Amino acid sequence: MPADYRSSPVRRVVLVVLDGLRPDAISRFHLHRVASLARRGASTFRAQTVTPSITPCAMASLLTGAAPERHGIQSEHFHIPRPRGPVHPIAKELAKHSLPASFFMPRVPFLMRGIAARISTMLGLSEFRNQGNEAGEVLAAARSTLESQRRGLIMLHWLDADRAGHDHGWMSPEYGIAAARMDDALGELTDAVDLNDPTTLVIALADHGGGGGTLKHHDSSHPLDTTIPIMLAGGAIMPCDLGAGVSLTDVPATILWALGIARPESYVGRPLMQAFAKLPMAA
Ligand SMILES: [Zn+2]
Repeated sequence: MPADYRSSPVRRVVLVVLDGLRPDAISRFHLHRVASLARRGASTFRAQTVTPSITPCAMASLLTGAAPERHGIQSEHFHIPRPRGPVHPIAKELAKHSLPASFFMPRVPFLMRGIAARISTMLGLSEFRNQGNEAGEVLAAARSTLESQRRGLIMLHWLDADRAGHDHGWMSPEYGIAAARMDDALGELTDAVDLNDPTTLVIALADHGGGGGTLKHHDSSHPLDTTIPIMLAGGAIMPCDLGAGVSLTDVPATILWALGIARPESYVGRPLMQAFAKLPMAA
């Protein structure tokens, strides 16, 4: 294992997906908690999601580290993927090191619960909960896990802004209200975890933007659809601007790196090592 693996004291990663949150919504709608996480951590508002810029595709890349061409989810159609080549779900990589991976998302429609449970098993998640609707409710469902699970990965997926974007248009007043709900929940979450603790790494990001190609969608190659904010915070993180050239696929690579786990070849991203404070190497 390369020596630089020792420089990360991180033992658990709390990952929050702010579905459909455009970077420019953060200042427009005064999302104070998102803005303060970006300021105190390593962040960029110029990162790029995968192509096509849709949730199933981006979530599959986050959960496997693989490009869409590899994991095979390239449409909104909810299905069991047929990967083109080996994929190594992040939860399974963690499990090899006896680390748990939990996933919390809003309630899925009744008819989709079976397939959602099958996908969670395929991904190797140790806990999968779909409960609640708004961001705060999903957070409430994750509370006890946030308190008790001190190692591995805890992932939360909040859909508020995306849903309002589809119903009313990106950057509409309704979208702003929904984004503010996610902001409140992010504040609650960052109050609940100690951001000075070097063993916890908090990562918040969007899976896509919206309102670029058309007002109520996000599946075009327009920069407003593809550009996302990515923020890393926690005691191990050094405040810095991560700038351009960062991809959503760098997030799963960073999670494995931070936890000291070697990356399978199917992980296309690079770890964002520049976000981590240089710590003296153990002798
Ligand atoms: Zn959407």
